[in-house]
Amino acid sequence: MLAFFLSLPYQFKTIMHHISVIGSGTMGNGIAHTFALFGFEVALVDISQAALDRAILTIESNLERQVNKGAIDSAAKISALRRLHPYNHLKDGVADADLVVEAATENEKIKLDLFTSLDGFCKPKAILASNTSSISITKIASVTSRPEQVIGMHFMNPVPLMKLVEVIRGYSTSDVVTKKVLDVAILLEKTPVEVNDYPGFVANRILMPMINEAIYTLFEGVATAEAIDAVMKLGMAHPMGPLQLADFIGLDVCLSIMRVLHEGFGHSKYAPCPLLVNMVQAGKLGKKTKSGFFTY
Ligand code: NAD
Repeated sequence: MLAFFLSLPYQFKTIMHHISVIGSGTMGNGIAHTFALFGFEVALVDISQAALDRAILTIESNLERQVNKGAIDSAAKISALRRLHPYNHLKDGVADADLVVEAATENEKIKLDLFTSLDGFCKPKAILASNTSSISITKIASVTSRPEQVIGMHFMNPVPLMKLVEVIRGYSTSDVVTKKVLDVAILLEKTPVEVNDYPGFVANRILMPMINEAIYTLFEGVATAEAIDAVMKLGMAHPMGPLQLADFIGLDVCLSIMRVLHEGFGHSKYAPCPLLVNMVQAGKLGKKTKSGFFTY
């Protein structure tokens, strides 16, 4: 497998070699890390120079951790870093892209503006993928002139470790484009799972109502946060309790996904728990603010 770290199989190189990752935050740096390690040339684009600088340092230290664990050798780390190219101008960063993976902030307006620009800047054959957790791929595709080449590529956090890629077909996504994206995920040693474009897709349609119910259980005083997480960890063999998981995902992200489910299905069972709304308004966003259901 180490051979893949140094160069891509020739046949694949001719189809897809240049990847642009838009957004260099939590997910973007993991996605860029993974593509670079598996032999792709990666342009990492962010509007924030500080975020780009942080991302390169994070990728370097995460690659070093893989070297220390014996998962890769130092040559693979050095080659991966050489294949990473930071940009803070979108047009320059996507000029060569065969595949764009957008992982910018989860905000519909930001994504629609980005895809309008990507459609203008990218090569006509480029595939435009979004790592969105909940925004409709069909809606994102509708602002481009190439909806058949727009698709969801939903990686899980932390990207270098997690095997699942939820591949979301928008209303117009073509079979050819879906096959290419499934193939590229397999090349990254991930397990792609194909799903259709409905609110929350599969992962968050099931996960978020469970997290929201755990928050209601706390809100109604049924048990403490520690007790709720202990029941789910010990009783259901979940590696992490739902409240701690919510803290890791970010309570603002959980709230925005619940709102997409609520609006998309129009059913009261998806109404976000008032405690979740209050905590987000109070700036208690979980691990990233060092305080959520637990303190960090
Ligand atoms: P983040 O806040 O850590 O990073 C977002 C980055 O996007 C920031 O660095 C920001 O500067 C940049 N950005 C904003 N607007 C931009 C623009 N117009 N052009 C270029 N860069 C821009 O967010 P994240 O947690 O990495 O999430 C990114 C995406 O991945 C979201 O769509 C989110 O829903 C999805 N996602 C997140 C997780 C998770 O666990 N965090 C898991 C799966 C999917």
